[in-house]
Amino acid sequence: MTTDTLNRRLRALPAVDALLNTAAAAALEKRYGREPLVRALREALNLARQAIRAGGDVPDAASLLNSAANLLSRQAAPTLRPVINATGVILHTNLGRAPLSAAALAAIQDVAVGYATLEYDLEAGQRGHRDRHAERIVCEVTGAEAALVVNNNAAGVLLALLAFARGRGALISRGQLVQIGGGFRVPEVMAQSGATLVEVGTTNRTTLADYEAAIDADSAVILAVHASNFKQIGFTEQPPLADLAALAHRHGLLLVNDLGSGALLDTAAFGLAHEPTVQEALAAGCDLVCFSGDKLLGGPQAGIIVGRADLVAALKKHPLARAVRMDKLGLAGLVATLESYRRGTALADIPVWRMISTPAAVIRRRAMRWRRRIGAGRVIAAESAVGGGSLPGETLPTFALALDVARPDALAAALRAEPLPIIARIQDDSVLLDPRTVLPGQDNALIGSVRRLLAAFQSGS
Ligand SMILES: *Cc1c(COP(=O)(O)O)cnc(C)c1O
Repeated sequence: MTTDTLNRRLRALPAVDALLNTAAAAALEKRYGREPLVRALREALNLARQAIRAGGDVPDAASLLNSAANLLSRQAAPTLRPVINATGVILHTNLGRAPLSAAALAAIQDVAVGYATLEYDLEAGQRGHRDRHAERIVCEVTGAEAALVVNNNAAGVLLALLAFARGRGALISRGQLVQIGGGFRVPEVMAQSGATLVEVGTTNRTTLADYEAAIDADSAVILAVHASNFKQIGFTEQPPLADLAALAHRHGLLLVNDLGSGALLDTAAFGLAHEPTVQEALAAGCDLVCFSGDKLLGGPQAGIIVGRADLVAALKKHPLARAVRMDKLGLAGLVATLESYRRGTALADIPVWRMISTPAAVIRRRAMRWRRRIGAGRVIAAESAVGGGSLPGETLPTFALALDVARPDALAAALRAEPLPIIARIQDDSVLLDPRTVLPGQDNALIGSVRRLLAAFQSGS
């Protein structure tokens, strides 16, 4: 192509103003705003110029507007979107951990749409404290003396170390110097808190005598960290919490327990291993116990610190408490979630516990219904997991719908590209959909998507 031809073609492209003067542009402007539209048209024209220089045709106004519309819709789509979790992993860390109960959702909506008594005392008609909303019910369901709710458990552990171990020694078993998820590494958190890490025992065995030998005049805290996301088997030993508490108290130290998932109910009732509960940790004599609100508790993201009243009072007054404080939406959701435990209706109300307690036979019937309505697939025995850094290696027997296609990875990707994305897993070259983690109201969307995509895949596209 000569320079003349190229220039003629480039000049044949419409100007931004001309494109703006169309009905299609008016509709886009109404939907996305003037400035973003102008930017998208410029970008569409830039792309067209590159294509022309590469030997392509001159696009017409309609196709330029169409490409601007695609750019705009991609930019406007939030990256944080709801998905259907068909993986069978109940507390899926990447998918937002615990789905909330209807009551938690209603409570959040109630305080979100308007003003609320977040820091207001209605009786006195003056400033109140945000700390009081959750404390009483946390204490009631855990048996704790006092409680403080912060932004997440990582913040709770950090705050406890800052308040009670900064500039002093914190003892921890070498078997508990762990990493939780992406980047919460106990030794690094300890360093950030200004506590001196005192390693005790060995990776697999730490005895009470090891702890005792490590205590000196500088020691302030023994930190016990629950093995949330890994399992030690074989020649292993850790002293019971109660013995550790007695030792700590004999030497004037505090026992702080990072419990992680913070179960309030016994997982062993559902064929799982026993996950230590908050109540047990307190009964063993821990001075402070830290756990998450959005793991096995099944509520919103939160870090809950329970224990001795004088210690909790000091935490509330700590200069960094405000930096990690809980917001009103989380507080409302957490209190409503805990209300289900107080009423004794947690198994029925809280999605995480509904999923854990659903018998495999019920899941199998649901998978069979899916198969009937989809008209394809095999219902097979499979395993669901609790996930979310709790009960490592433990699974629940389940039934899943297995879809067999030539390219399972392509079907899984197509499921993720649906308007309401479906996250599946691939096992033995089949795409597996586990009903256990699919919310009751999501069946129709899932079935519609799978039917449509399977038809496309089986017709060979
Ligand atoms: C999950 C977990 C944490 C981190 O809790 P977040 O609520 O995610 O901040 C810390 N410690 C343990 C033992 C955990 O299991």
